[in-house]
Amino acid sequence: MELEILGAHQCESLNSKLVSLLIDKVLALDAGGLTSSLTLSDQQRIKAILITHHHFDHIRDLATFGINAYSWGPIDVYALDSVLDVISKHLLNDVVYPDFLKNPRPDKPTFRFCPVEPGKEVIIDGYRVLPLPVKHGVPAVGYWITSRDGKSIFYTGDTGGGCSSCWEAISPELLVIEVCMSNSYESMAQQSGHLTPRLLKEELIDFKRLNGYLPHVVVVHMILSIEDEIREEVAQVAKELGANITLGYEGMKITL
Ligand SMILES: [Zn+2]
Ligand SMILES: [Zn+2]
Repeated sequence: MELEILGAHQCESLNSKLVSLLIDKVLALDAGGLTSSLTLSDQQRIKAILITHHHFDHIRDLATFGINAYSWGPIDVYALDSVLDVISKHLLNDVVYPDFLKNPRPDKPTFRFCPVEPGKEVIIDGYRVLPLPVKHGVPAVGYWITSRDGKSIFYTGDTGGGCSSCWEAISPELLVIEVCMSNSYESMAQQSGHLTPRLLKEELIDFKRLNGYLPHVVVVHMILSIEDEIREEVAQVAKELGANITLGYEGMKITL
């Protein structure tokens, strides 16, 4: 199983892209930085796109990917029903951008929407995918993805913590988790449903209490302007917990 981080940030710039992960070149997780990171032929290999929630930094490239996949769809897009509804009403609505559920033809659309239910596993291209609810400002799920050889990754998407029920349900080799802000912004992070390094530490202590180990942890969704502070504080957390925690970056590849 290979994870490639296409976008590791909450902010876009010349050197940073909005959050998007790619598993074995075929499963995309969130679509913030999907098209700008991949050649057209790499985009053609994608079998399905899994969306954690409807915030713009996670769905934007459904529009840009849709235009590219117009000729080779349908591509399956998995998300909570309410998330798919927001995407239909507010992004792919024939006003902002085409409705790819009925174009180019209703019998051969660009996208097929596949609603997921929290706690209900689905099989996608041979991968076992378990969506689990996470706390954020809007309805959101993380995804536990297990490949045929039994290796697995859990991606939280955006979350403000309180992940105990997720941790009880999973045992991944790799945890990709958000840390949006540095510790000095903790109250803002808590209000908006995001983590800081100190809150990450609490989550990881909880993970270890419930599961008896800590997986390799990769942090994503950093705000660019405070990334250096986040890096220093995450390094401190890693030291205190004796854990393998690294900040993700665009182009990072991890093989399990
Ligand atoms: Zn969000
Ligand atoms: Zn976000």
